[in-house]
Amino acid sequence: MTKVAVVTGGTRGIGKAISKELKNDGYMVVAIFQNNEEAAQKFRNETGCETMKLDVADFDQCHGAIEEIESKFGEIGVLVNNAGITRDGVLHKMPKENWDDVIQTNLTSCFNMCRAVITKMRERKFGRIVNISSINGQKGQFGQVNYSAAKAGMIGFTKALALESAIKNVTVNVVCPGYIETDMTANISKDILDKIICQIPEMRMGKPEEIAAIVSFLASDKAAFVTGATLSANGGQYMV
Ligand code: NDP
Repeated sequence: MTKVAVVTGGTRGIGKAISKELKNDGYMVVAIFQNNEEAAQKFRNETGCETMKLDVADFDQCHGAIEEIESKFGEIGVLVNNAGITRDGVLHKMPKENWDDVIQTNLTSCFNMCRAVITKMRERKFGRIVNISSINGQKGQFGQVNYSAAKAGMIGFTKALALESAIKNVTVNVVCPGYIETDMTANISKDILDKIICQIPEMRMGKPEEIAAIVSFLASDKAAFVTGATLSANGGQYMV
C-alpha cells in the first residue's frame, strides 16, 4: 500500500490530530500550513512529520507541492483536505473579499488539491481522499453564509468525485465535525459558546482526536467499501 499521506492545515487543531493519527497508522505524513511558522516548527519537533508551506487556494502552488512531495517522499495514497478559515458576518454586511477568501480556502482548495493527485491515484488504482466539511455546511449557520456555502459545496464535491473514482479504487468521503476545541473555536465568546454547548446533547465540545479517529478509519483498508459517505461527529447536535 502507498504510505504517503498529505494533510492540509495539518500543523494545528484538527489537522494536527489527523497528522499524528496517520503517522501512528504508519504513514509518512506531510502536513501543509500557510503562515504560522511557529506552530509548524512546534509540530515538527513534537511529531517528526514533514511540513510544507503553501496556500491551498493557489492552484499552481498545490500542483507544485504535490509534484515535490511525490518526487521526495513517494506516491501519495491519502489526501486529507482539512485547511479552512472563517470570516463571519451577516450577508448584508459581508465584504466581497470575505466571501472570496472563504470559498477559495475551504472549497476551491479541494479542487486544487484533488486535481493535483487524482490522475496518479487513478493510474495506480488506489487512493483515499477525505474532506473535512462542517455541521454548518449541513444545517446552515447565522453569520456564515460564506462558510456554510463552502462546506455544503464540499459535500456535493465529495459525492460527485466518489462517483467518478469508485471504479479506480479511489474512495472519497467527507467528515462533518460539530464544535471542536481548536484555535478556530477559541475565538468564539464564552456567552455564545455556552449557548452552543446547551444545544449539544453530549453537553460538550468535541476533541480533535475524535475527528482524527474517523479519518484514520476512512484511510484504512477497513473502509474500502465506504465512498461518497458523509460522516457526522457532533455530539448529537444535528442528526441527518
Ligand atoms: P485551525 O484554525 O485550528 O487550523 C487551520 C489550519 O489550516 C492551520 O494549520 C492553517 O495554517 C491552515 N490553513 C488555513 N488557511 C490555509 C491556506 N490558505 N493554505 C494552507 N493552509 C491553510 O482550524 P481547525 O483545526 O479548527 O479546523 C480544521 C478544519 O475543520 C477546517 O476546515 C474547519 O473549517 C473544520 N471544522 C472545524 C470545526 C471546529 O469546531 N474547530 C468544526 C467543523 C469544521 P497556519 O497554521 O499556517 O495558519
